Amino acid sequence: MRTPFVAGNWKMNKTVAEARDLVFKMSMQLREIAGVEKVLCPPFTSLVAVSALLEGTDIGLGAQNMYWEEKGAFTGEVSPPMVKEFCRYVILGHSERRAYFGETDQTVNRKLISAQTFDLTPIVCVGETLDEYESSRTREVVARQTSQSLRDVDPAFAPRIVVAYEPVWAIGTGKASTADNANAVVKDIIRPALAELFGAETAQAIRVLYGGSVTAANAAEYFSQPDIDGALVGGASLKIDEFAAIVKAASK
Ligand code: PEP
Repeated sequence: MRTPFVAGNWKMNKTVAEARDLVFKMSMQLREIAGVEKVLCPPFTSLVAVSALLEGTDIGLGAQNMYWEEKGAFTGEVSPPMVKEFCRYVILGHSERRAYFGETDQTVNRKLISAQTFDLTPIVCVGETLDEYESSRTREVVARQTSQSLRDVDPAFAPRIVVAYEPVWAIGTGKASTADNANAVVKDIIRPALAELFGAETAQAIRVLYGGSVTAANAAEYFSQPDIDGALVGGASLKIDEFAAIVKAASK
């Protein structure tokens, strides 16, 4: 049995004061929802404040990115031990990182190996662009991203990894993938790639989320799919009632 998992990716939104206000109100609703692993991923600048507010709750905290080196002359970067001071989770290889900041399967893999070293639970994002989708390259792209981004991981660490299937054409566009299509990609492309890396049993143990325009209105459809174990939520994770409703749908 895979425990449902819902993470909110705030992206580049909220000052510290705004984050405090949002988490104070949101945590009151979220902490009452059992049977689902729930994680908030605010910007780096709000991690300290949000971690204080989440102390003593069952709501986890995650970073949206990190660098792979432990320390040194890497201006503007944030290291795994810095993330680990406040977070148990880290999002890696989000499509916005891949599209705007030059991340590749190779750099995502280095970060993943570093997450393993520093005992952080990674949420690794994969997904095809609109162009790749329209030219029927979903299988090729998602299989490659999965096997390259997750290569050389210790099989003992593999069940800790959370994979998020996020078709780029569905992120922030309001054009969500159908639940059937998302489940088919996870079942026929992502889990077989995971099985090749870690064996069939581990592939069945790894949580795979869907992400891309998930809302309170469509979340339950995804969560009723046998191969989808939760969601990575962007825009809707900034709205208290909306995000709480998505988390609640995953807990059923
Ligand atoms: C995301 O940022 O990972 C995401 C899925 O965004 P949205 O829910 O806004 O599409």
